Amino acid sequence: MGVRTPYGKVLARRVALGTNVFPSLVKRVRAYTVPVYDYALTTEPLSPEQLASIGWKNRQGLGDSANQFHYFRITADHRILWGGYDAIYPFGGKVSADMDHRPETYLKLAEHFFRCFPQLEGLRFSHAWGGAIDTCSRFSAFFGTAHKGKVAYAAGFTGLGVGATRFGADVMLDLLAGERTERTELDMVRSKPLPFPPEPVAWAGIGLTKWSLARADENGGRRNLWLKTMDRLGLGFDS
Ligand SMILES: Cc1cc2nc3c(=O)[nH]c(=O)nc-3n(C[C@H](O)[C@H](O)[C@H](O)COP(=O)(O)OP(=O)(O)OC[C@H]3O[C@@H](n4cnc5c(N)ncnc54)[C@H](O)[C@@H]3O)c2cc1C
Repeated sequence: MGVRTPYGKVLARRVALGTNVFPSLVKRVRAYTVPVYDYALTTEPLSPEQLASIGWKNRQGLGDSANQFHYFRITADHRILWGGYDAIYPFGGKVSADMDHRPETYLKLAEHFFRCFPQLEGLRFSHAWGGAIDTCSRFSAFFGTAHKGKVAYAAGFTGLGVGATRFGADVMLDLLAGERTERTELDMVRSKPLPFPPEPVAWAGIGLTKWSLARADENGGRRNLWLKTMDRLGLGFDS
């Protein structure tokens, strides 16, 4: 099998596909993921006084526990990275660079930031960006092979791929070697998530789920019938 690019080509007997949210080269895999866009802001560096005013001493990684949650970190140069909350699904599930920035989400994130850290009023944001997350319906990666075992794939990390893609790569190597290992025997390796339905059903289902999650956050976490049914089926949706 070969890969050809404007810069050169590579030939290989076996191929591991780690193409994240981009349309899989194995077509039947495409229905298992949808792109969900997630956005983040970063502040200018905080002064020692500003840092002391919020009492965040040990650089812990933080997140809140809402369905539509925020994640936040202090960077090495004392900025706060603040992201999450909105999870934007584009109709038709197309990955496009146009979606990498979303001013209305940035405004919302900034408002939430100052609600959390009122002491930092007046602090400015130096960076803002977003990206697509390869969301599958069960929140964790899935795996498989194609072309008589010569191609392996891993996708569907659903926003949790920084550590997990290393595990995913090991799974693909096991699959390509045709070996039965502790990893290949795992249920999460042997089973697939439910695929997403075609449009407009996917749009309607994801919209209803997002609306239900937002309502649950407003109602002390109480989940409506739709979310309870999804929970029972092991289905979910997240940023
Ligand atoms: C805003 C945001 C915040 C996130 N926060 C976290 C977090 O806090 N913690 C966490 O664990 N994860 C987080 N994630 C998810 C994490 O970044 C991903 O799960 C992880 O980077 C996936 O790694 P990967 O190797 O599978 O894919 P990538 O690193 O995206 O690599 C895939 C590569 O495949 C290439 N490619 C795709 N299709 C083709 C093709 N047809 N031909 C050639 N090349 C192709 C792409 O160009 C790309 O270089 C976040 C993602 C986003 C967008």
